[in-house]
Amino acid sequence: MTINHRKTGWAAVAVSLLFSVLLTLNYVQMWKDDLIIPGPGVTEVKWLSDYEPSLRGTLGDTRVFVMEGKEPGATFLVLGGTHADEPAGWGAALILVEHCTVARGRVIVLPQCSNTGFTHNYPQEAHPQFISFPRPDGTKRTFRHGSRTGNSAEHWPDPEVFIQYPHKQKYSGEECRNPNRAYPGRPDGTFAERVAYGIQQLNRKEKVDMQIDLHEGQPEYPFINALSGHPRAQDLVSLAALEMQMYDLDIGAEVSPPSFRGLSNLEMGDMFPDLMAMTSETVNPTQGKIRGITDEFLPVDGIDAFYDRAAQLGYLFAPWEGGSPLKKRIGRNMQELQALCVALKEVTGKEIEFGRIPSYEDLMTNGVGYYFNPPPAEPADPGFRALPGVWRLFTQR
Ligand SMILES: [Zn+2]
Repeated sequence: MTINHRKTGWAAVAVSLLFSVLLTLNYVQMWKDDLIIPGPGVTEVKWLSDYEPSLRGTLGDTRVFVMEGKEPGATFLVLGGTHADEPAGWGAALILVEHCTVARGRVIVLPQCSNTGFTHNYPQEAHPQFISFPRPDGTKRTFRHGSRTGNSAEHWPDPEVFIQYPHKQKYSGEECRNPNRAYPGRPDGTFAERVAYGIQQLNRKEKVDMQIDLHEGQPEYPFINALSGHPRAQDLVSLAALEMQMYDLDIGAEVSPPSFRGLSNLEMGDMFPDLMAMTSETVNPTQGKIRGITDEFLPVDGIDAFYDRAAQLGYLFAPWEGGSPLKKRIGRNMQELQALCVALKEVTGKEIEFGRIPSYEDLMTNGVGYYFNPPPAEPADPGFRALPGVWRLFTQR
């Protein structure tokens, strides 16, 4: 090798090292917790590790916000961010925490149920790492736009085939990091199963009466604008769908198929005989396979020319007029949370009442950012509360 070749070789190594360092610095920004500013309705802030201590110090630990009303009543668990790339779920949960109040009973909210999913994204899908919401006063709030699955740094490598516990249903290997295949969870299982076990323990300790897991799906997927429940919650789901229709919001009412194991509504419903467990889905083009330009605006504005065309050709399962902006999707979720409380009382006599909560119309009028609290003038750098497992091997003894 000549001197020149050697120089070129070292230069190539140096350039790739530089890019690796820059990309790593960019990537680790997602390991920092989002700023969440509890509003007047929050009476206690806990962590999932208060229910399952083995999660402490891991990316799986996440904030649990308790909103207790003045009047006694039932307990409602709201799971947002099971899939961190489905912002209508975590966005609705964040509006509960930052803006809403509870008059009767308790509402327990996990806006970032799968915190590990928020610590990485899908760069090869061109998914943004962060999305922002402008507020009426000109400030904005920014949150991480994560991934459907947990961070592989907490569970690596993926198996060829993931065998669900305890029903032994087989899924593709990557699904071992999907939080919504990990229920009911177990303390000594995969990382996702340990997080699911934390939710199981929370259910047990807090004696939850009703649980909703807020999801989103792609526009070409048949199960969208839909509410699905454990077989025992069938009446409640149907009544809630009727209640939604009073506000001109169509929502499909379905029963969770007993052959589809590992889902929060089916497994938690099977485990706790008094629990009414549901899942719902709004329409998110960022998850779709035929979408066009994918940037930080698509998850918020929900406008896409390819889906416009697909809708014209009649290929979509839900109305597409005006696209599917996040304010519409979160508005549906806010109305659904209220409909579920009405239906719970009707079916079981148990009562949960929100005090302040925006309606679908409110979200359509004011937008999403209106319901988030103003950021502090100089936001403190949250630092790294926890590092991924692989990283901990090098930094902790
Ligand atoms: Zn989902």
